[in-house]
Amino acid sequence: MVKGKVVLPLDDNYEEERKIYNAMIDKRPGIIVKCKDLDDVVKAVNFARENYLEVSIRSGGHNGAGLALCEDGLVIDLSEMNDIQIDPDEKTTKIQPGLTLAEVDKATHEYGLALPCGVVGTTGVAGLTLGGGMGYLSRKGGLTIDNLLEAKVVLASGEVVTANKSNRSDLFWALRGGGGNFGVVVSFTFNLIPVKNVYAGPMFWPIEQSEEAMKFYDKITKNASNDLYGFFAFLIVPPGDPFPEHLHNQNVCGVVWCYTGSVEEAEEVFRPIREFGPPILDFVGEMSLPSLNGMFDALYPPGMQWYWKGHYINELTDECIQENIKHGSKIPTVHSTSHFYPIDGRVHEKSQKETAWANRNARWSQVIAGVSPDPMEADKVTKWCKDYYEGIKPYATGGAYINFMMEEGQERIKVGYKSNYERLTKIKNKYDPDNFFHINQNIQPAK
Ligand SMILES: Cc1cc2nc3c(=O)[nH]c(=O)nc-3n(C[C@H](O)[C@H](O)[C@H](O)COP(=O)(O)OP(=O)(O)OC[C@H]3O[C@@H](n4cnc5c(N)ncnc54)[C@H](O)[C@@H]3O)c2cc1C
Repeated sequence: MVKGKVVLPLDDNYEEERKIYNAMIDKRPGIIVKCKDLDDVVKAVNFARENYLEVSIRSGGHNGAGLALCEDGLVIDLSEMNDIQIDPDEKTTKIQPGLTLAEVDKATHEYGLALPCGVVGTTGVAGLTLGGGMGYLSRKGGLTIDNLLEAKVVLASGEVVTANKSNRSDLFWALRGGGGNFGVVVSFTFNLIPVKNVYAGPMFWPIEQSEEAMKFYDKITKNASNDLYGFFAFLIVPPGDPFPEHLHNQNVCGVVWCYTGSVEEAEEVFRPIREFGPPILDFVGEMSLPSLNGMFDALYPPGMQWYWKGHYINELTDECIQENIKHGSKIPTVHSTSHFYPIDGRVHEKSQKETAWANRNARWSQVIAGVSPDPMEADKVTKWCKDYYEGIKPYATGGAYINFMMEEGQERIKVGYKSNYERLTKIKNKYDPDNFFHINQNIQPAK
C-alpha cells in the first residue's frame, strides 16, 4: 500500500489528474500514483516493473512533448513531494521533485539566495534540472545542473542510491543533462548564489527594426559582463495591461533583460541599450527575482495548446537573421513566440565532457513555440513552428535542448548529445539495462 492516492480511469478525479500543462497532449494512463514519499516511489517502481507496466515520471508536468504521461501504463506522480530545506550558511538547498520554480524562488529569496533556473514560475524544477536548466541567471551562475551537488535516485531495480561527485560519479555525470533516463530523482541538493533584486524586464522594438536590433543585441551581450543577461524574442504584444493600448497585438521584437549588478551600475549599462532604437516599450527597472521569474506566468496558464521545437545556434549570420525575421514576422497567435536563450557566460566555463549536457559551445538555445488557448488553432501553431524550424535548420548546429523537443526520434536525440551519447548509453546500460525508463528523450542502453 502506498501512502499517496492512486487514481484509476473510472475515478471522478481521473480527468483532472491526467491533465498536464500542454493541452495538446491527450494520454490516458492506466494508473496514476501520487507518491507522498521515497517509500511510495520505490513501491511504484517495483509494482510497475513486476507487472510489466510502462512507466512515466511526472514532476511539474511541463514537458512540451507530454513525457510526464504514458498511455495505459503507470505514472509516478511526484507533484505532492514538495519539501524544501535551505541552509543559508552553506548557501545550499535540498528539494523534492514536486516543486515548481516559483516555489523554489520564493523560499530562497527569503535568504537573498537564488537557484539559476528557468523563466516561467510554473515549470517543474525536476524535469528542468535533469535536462540542463537555463534562464536569467545562466550567465552569472551557469546552468541549473552546474549547481547540482547531489541527487537521490530510485533506480529501475527499486534500489535507492545517492549520486554526487565522489559517489556514483558516473550516474551523477549522466543526470546532469541526461533527463529522466536513469531513475526517479526524489531529492536534489543545489548550490545557491546570492541574488535578491535585479534590474530587469522587457524592452521592445518595432518588427521593422529586427535586423538592427538582433545585431545590436548580439554585439552588446557578447562584450557584456556575466551580470547582464537578455533573451531575444519575436512576439506579439498581448492586448491588455500593463501594455499600452497602441501596442496591443503588434508584432514586435524585443529582449527580456536581467541585470544582477547594482542599480547605479545598471543605469550605466542600460544607457547605450536605451539609446538604441529607441525602444517602443521599456519596462526595465528594479524588481525582485521572483517577480521577474513569474512575469509570464499569467500570460501562459496551464491548458493551452503547445507545439515547440528547438535549435542550438552559434552565430547570428545575416542569413540566419533574415530567416528568423521571415518567420518572426508571421507569428500566428498572441501567445506564439521565438526566444534565443544565451548559454554563454559561466555555462562556457565547463567543458563539453564535464556533464552529459553537450552544447556548451553554442551561444544560444532557440525555442520556437506555437501556442494557443484554442484547440481549433492547434494545426495553425504547429505548422508555423515546423516551417520556422525547417527554415533555421541550415544555420543551427544540430540537435536541440531536450527540454525544448517534441518526440522527434532517436537520431535527433543522439545528435544533440554529440560525443557524450556513447558514454550515456553505457551508463544507461549499467543503471537501466532493460530501458524501463524509456518515456523520455530516450537514451538506449549500449548492448
Ligand atoms: C512555459 C514553459 C517555460 C519553460 N521555460 C524554460 C526555461 O526557462 N528554461 C529551461 O531550461 N526550460 C524551460 N522549459 C522547459 C522545461 O525545462 C521542461 O518542460 C521540463 O520538462 C519541465 O520539467 P517538469 O518537471 O515540469 O517536467 P515533467 O513534464 O513533469 O517531466 C518531464 C520529464 O522529465 C523527467 N523527469 C521529471 N521529473 C523527474 C524526476 N523526478 N526524476 C527523473 N526524471 C524526471 C522525465 O523524463 C519526464 O518525462 C519551459 C517549459 C515551459 C512549458
